Amino acid sequence: MTESRFKLVKLVKVLAGSLLLAVLALFTVASIRTLSLDVNVGLQLADWEKTNNLSLVINQQQREELLARFKEAIRIPTVSFSENESNTTALREFDAFLRKAFPTVFSSSLVRHEVVANYSHLFRVQGSQPDLVPYMLLAHIDVVPAAESDGWEAPPFSAKEINGFIYGRGTIDDKYAVMGILQALEYLLLKGYAPRRAFYIGLGHDEEVRGFNGAMNIVRLLKQRGVKLSFVLDEGLGILDGVIDGLEGPAALIGLSEKGSAIVKLSVSMAPGHASIPPRESSIGILASAVKRLEENPMPRLFGYGPERETFEHLAHKFKLPMKFVFSNLWLFSPVLSRLLERRPDSNAFVRTTTAVTMFNAGVKVNVLPSLAEAYVNLRIHSAQTLKEILELIQETVGDPRVKIELIHGFDPLPVSSADERSFGFQIIKKTVLDMFPAVTVAPGICIGNTDSRHFKDLTSDIYRFAPVWFKPGDSQRFHGINERISKKNYEEIVSFFFNLIQNCDIQKLPEPHSSVHEL
Ligand SMILES: [Zn+2]
Repeated sequence: MTESRFKLVKLVKVLAGSLLLAVLALFTVASIRTLSLDVNVGLQLADWEKTNNLSLVINQQQREELLARFKEAIRIPTVSFSENESNTTALREFDAFLRKAFPTVFSSSLVRHEVVANYSHLFRVQGSQPDLVPYMLLAHIDVVPAAESDGWEAPPFSAKEINGFIYGRGTIDDKYAVMGILQALEYLLLKGYAPRRAFYIGLGHDEEVRGFNGAMNIVRLLKQRGVKLSFVLDEGLGILDGVIDGLEGPAALIGLSEKGSAIVKLSVSMAPGHASIPPRESSIGILASAVKRLEENPMPRLFGYGPERETFEHLAHKFKLPMKFVFSNLWLFSPVLSRLLERRPDSNAFVRTTTAVTMFNAGVKVNVLPSLAEAYVNLRIHSAQTLKEILELIQETVGDPRVKIELIHGFDPLPVSSADERSFGFQIIKKTVLDMFPAVTVAPGICIGNTDSRHFKDLTSDIYRFAPVWFKPGDSQRFHGINERISKKNYEEIVSFFFNLIQNCDIQKLPEPHSSVHEL
């Protein structure tokens, strides 16, 4: 008896000892990782190829002109209402406006311009070195509808200035990019610039309604011509300032991927009947339970299995302890972290495939049992899942053969673009940002919405979604919301960004990776 108790005590001691050792080992590994993870330095300290970049100094007269052009762009209501309905008068007016606003772009012998699908534009700027793989800048001309009565401080197509901001639909989605890219090219051409690396500019006219006409026809043309692209840069993410709790300084997030999407229709059909002799379960009741089951059983947590992991690892060193420790070691903490992040709808979107029930229709008369009840569910698919997987999960969760499940429209999450030290597009964008804004931390990010750039995935493996638009807390609601605005200073920065980026793309080769030269 005593001997066996002795043995038990010894076993407990050994177990406790091993556990302590294991915790200590984990803690040591995690601490080393916390201290050594500083992915932001990267190529910034490396030896970059010398470039003779032209610099952009904007004088007062130019400033007034470039803002006047931007405001004129905002005033043209290029609204997409649906896939089949857009303001074509405004789109035609916008075409004429662009030609007038950027005469050098439209007349330069270096630029080939063509109208695609009546209202979209494709530009090819010729490079002097045909061996360099071209890249592409994307933006879109169309905007979502806006009504002043929704509570705008200024009419949505007025481009009115309030406290240094220009208000209007399209200011941050996406006319700053349309105008910023062309304005930068106009300035470059006026200064006699001729690129080494050729590039394309694509301006779609129906991005807000999925880009099936504009972007897809641009892609078709480029494919016919056998074009391959080094990278594509489109709208998407920006510079977050004070948006991420606990992060020191602003963060520029470059979108590497987009969530997938699915619209699923659930329906229940039953024989119609009179309300005086109802069956035990109605079509409405069956469908309501199915919808409830979907809401009560969210898709699995996948935080740490997509590009969101890289976002936190790149930003980790800009957090204080203990968050620095946690974010540097997502391999250890992602299960705990995902439980915290799922509590808020905006951070929950990074944790999993989200499920939103958006429509529910049934019944036509107060005393008739409806024969049909239907609901629509809108899902945004996490990078670590596929459309097929989520459809199977819906089937399983609904678990009722009386509920018919149909996929109306959907696509897989986009491939994840590269962001390492050999990734040309990512590093050039990063360098351009850091040259302009040295205090900003650059990190990869993920877009939870979709852009035209997804149609370009056969032309390149590297699609980035970014522009240096500054976002402060609350600004994200201005997207497709009320009081969309951009500061005058920020629009000027956008022009400078594209002015510098286009020239930086003339770099033929990236420097040797920082890690391979053993520099700390
Ligand atoms: Zn947009």
